This record gives sequence, structure tokens and C-alpha cells, in this order.
Amino acid sequence: MISVSEALEILKNNLPEPRIVRVSINEAFSRRLAEDIHSPEPSPRYTSSAMDGYAVRWADLHELRDDTPVSLNVVGESQAGVPYAVRLEAGEAVRISTGAMIPEGSDTVIRVEDTEEEGGIVLIRKCKKEGQDVRHAGEEFGQGAKILDKGLVLKARQIALLSAIGCNSIPVYDKPRVSLFITGTELAHHGDEEIKPFQVRDSNDPMLQSAIKEAGGVVAESLHVEDDLEVTVRQLRMALEKQSDIILCSGGVSVGRHDHVKEAAEMVGFDELFWKIRQKPGKPLYVARRNRTLLFGLPGNPVSAFMCFQNFVMPSLASLQGVQYLKKTITAEAEVPVVNMGKRTDFIRVDITNEPNSVPTFRPIARQGSHMLTSIVEADGYIAVEPGCDLKPGDLAEVFVF
Ligand code: AMP
Ligand code: MG
Repeated sequence: MISVSEALEILKNNLPEPRIVRVSINEAFSRRLAEDIHSPEPSPRYTSSAMDGYAVRWADLHELRDDTPVSLNVVGESQAGVPYAVRLEAGEAVRISTGAMIPEGSDTVIRVEDTEEEGGIVLIRKCKKEGQDVRHAGEEFGQGAKILDKGLVLKARQIALLSAIGCNSIPVYDKPRVSLFITGTELAHHGDEEIKPFQVRDSNDPMLQSAIKEAGGVVAESLHVEDDLEVTVRQLRMALEKQSDIILCSGGVSVGRHDHVKEAAEMVGFDELFWKIRQKPGKPLYVARRNRTLLFGLPGNPVSAFMCFQNFVMPSLASLQGVQYLKKTITAEAEVPVVNMGKRTDFIRVDITNEPNSVPTFRPIARQGSHMLTSIVEADGYIAVEPGCDLKPGDLAEVFVF
């Protein structure tokens, strides 16, 4: 048996490269950029007015004084969306609105408040400086400038910027596709009409579907598989057709006579990366690889399946989305002694107490059985207790928060 950290290292070295897809702006929300974005055009794209007023030539205003306005002929209008197409000549002005294109020949904008127009003539009363209230093409950034970094998650602000530069084919990491493979002849599935006394309700399928979505993945399909080698092989071939990044199996990886996942996986061409880990719960975890598909054989006990998902599948799903997975942790004080006399890393589920102005404390959930879902529902997180560890009340430990 290998240790948890050895297993994680092997997994890390076998993770497939994330897949990149291009999506339109309408599909880009909350996706992670897979490449830096360089703008195909300058911003602003054209030189425009920052104010409602008149576009003029600075050269026409040299006689302007506080008590001496300058009068110019109003020859037309440049409206936002309807530019004035003719060159501005000496002595001329053009009515202009905010955002409208500055006509060729003009270089300065006079705000409407500093003017008076009558009978086709505008009186210019004030102008602070040459070029005032003009927004120049490219003043924010030029064509080719890097505007967004690879790895960013696209939210409203970044989506606005992408739209503003006309980017409608956005490289993002594809959502990892996961095929679920739920084994167990004893299982009654959600929607089955009646449950027999010897059946077990399937909680792993709904749990793993939710966990996959929470981790940013997509459930490609979910197969319910009887404990029979031939059936398992046939169904695994079907699962492979979906070309998922991950085949996530539940149950059937232990050493029982009716556990067939490992053998079936190897019969369809998977190579074992590891099987059996010094951990509790989750000892029988099996991981294999076939080309770029990873297969996780999670133990069937729901708590074992969940803990293996937390520790092994979550980091893999993160990596397939171009991120390094960082567990959320807090440092807390033990309320009671915690000892590990065994040989495996013990993932003990704990309840955290948080009082204002004091260090958080934790206490193990009383019932830790790997078949007891309350042990993860009542817990706020878990601690990894290594063999030989002997925590006394008041000792600090790192708690992984769910
Ligand atoms: P296995 O790993 O297949 O040997 O299953 C170990 C235990 O987990 C058995 O008691 C199973 O009945 C139970 N189990 C397996 N799959 C599920 C599931 N999908 N939902 C709930 N319990 C399960
Ligand atoms: Mg089973």
C-alpha cells in the first residue's frame, strides 16, 4: 500500500492537459481564460467628443478673450452614429454630441454651456486649451495590447471589455466531462418504484453528480451497473464512447468476489496507477489511465466515496480547468484528545466551533463509520491524522473545510 502523498504525486504526474474550447461572448460568463487576450483593435476605436457641444479648429480661436467671443458658421452636425463626413474649414463649427466622431480638420470641442447659437452662427465664449474634451483613438490601449491574463475567471467587467473590442471567440478551459459508473446489484436508484428489504438506496450517484457540478465539471452520463464482470466490461466500453475526461466509478473496487471494476478496467485497456492507499476511509481507491482518460474506482461506502472525491477527484477536476486546487483550511484547537494508533492516515470528520475573538476549536463527530452519511453532514470539515499522531486538548491542527 502506498501513502496518501505518494498516491497524490502519481496522480499529479498523470493528469491530462486541460482541453481548450472557444466560446461566444454569451457563453463566456464564469469561464476561465485559457490564453492571454490581445486586443485586435485600439480603444477608443476612433477620435470622439467627450461632451455635447461644437467641434472647432483651435486655430480659429486665437482672438477669443473673456469679453470677446468668436463667432463661427455652423455647417452641420456630428451625431453619435451619424458622423459629419466633410472636412472642417477655417471659420466653421459642427454641432457634436458625446461619443460622436470628431470631424476631420477639427481638434477641439467647446461645451454647449460655453456657447450661444442663433441663425446658423455660434458664439464661442470660452475655451481653456487646444484639444480640450477630445478622446483620442488608442488613448486607452493600442491594437495588440494585452488586456486580459490567462487564468482569469470572466465576470461582468471582463465580459464588457471583451465585447468592447469585438472579441467573440474566446479561448476558455473546457469543462471536464465525467461519466459516472455506479456499480452494485444491491442498489435501488432514485425513481425506482419500490425498495425491497435487502436493497440499499443509491446515494452515491446523486452525491457525485452534485459534487462534479460543484467542482465545475459536467456529468456526461450515469450508468447503473450490475456486479457481473461481463456486464461491467460491456458497460465500461459504452462509457468510453462518451470520450469523457474522467470515468468515475462507485463501488466494486475492493477484494470481494463481486468486485469487478479493476479487472474490467484492465480488460478494456486501462493501466493501473495505484490501488489501495494507507488511508481511512477509502483504502480500496483504485486509479487507472487509458490514453487521456482517468478512471477513479471509488469505494462504495458513501463516506469513503465522498472523502476520496475530496482528496483525489477535486484536485484532478481543478487541474483539468487550468487551476491548481487549493484546499480551504483553518487552524483550530483540539477540544478533546485525538490519537491515531493505526498505520493509515485517518481523515477524521470534525465539527468546528467559532466564537468571536478566539481561536476556532474542533471536536470529532461521534460516529465516524464510512457508511454513516451523518458523519459528513454534521461535520464542517476534516483533519488528516497521521499514524502515531497524539493530539492533546488545546493542540493546534489544520482543518480542511468542506
Ligand atoms: P463496495 O465498495 O461495492 O463493496 O460497497 C461497499 C458498501 O457500500 C456496500 O455496503 C454497498 O452496499 C455500499 N454502496 C455501494 N454503492 C453504493 C451507493 N451507490 N450508494 C449507497 N451505498 C452504496
Ligand atoms: Mg459493490
